[in-house]
Amino acid sequence: MTINKDENHQGSCLCGKIRYKVKGVPKVVAHCHCIDCQKLTGAGHSTGAMFSEKNLKLQGEVGEYKLKSENGSKVTRVFCLTCGSPILGKNSDMQGYVTISLGTFDNSSSFEPEVIIFARNQKPWDVMDKKIAVFMAQPNWHPEEK
Ligand SMILES: [Zn+2]
Ligand SMILES: [Zn+2]
Repeated sequence: MTINKDENHQGSCLCGKIRYKVKGVPKVVAHCHCIDCQKLTGAGHSTGAMFSEKNLKLQGEVGEYKLKSENGSKVTRVFCLTCGSPILGKNSDMQGYVTISLGTFDNSSSFEPEVIIFARNQKPWDVMDKKIAVFMAQPNWHPEEK
């Protein structure tokens, strides 16, 4: 990844009422094929970059939807109340981190997805990069400090 630790990344929802800025290198960038992400995005997978929550500054009124993940952790999905863009997700298993939807960044070209998770739910029409590490469900690891 060609991102440095002092870099600021900006993004917004579709209508522009939500804007955010997040600093640094993501802990991990992942594609997720879980059923929840398919319903949330309306596509075959979500793609998210995980950042430390303290590095995030978010402006605008967001909605929150809370649910329980397949493995029992508490998930909060944060979205724009006007246009519905899924901005980020939080997981009680990863306290202090947010996973920001990669497509909401103004410029996401320098991010490189590193893993594919919940591949057991992958749809045949959602063809992925063969070079990325694949996990059938949620891998049992936590990304190292970067
Ligand atoms: Zn919006
Ligand atoms: Zn998912």
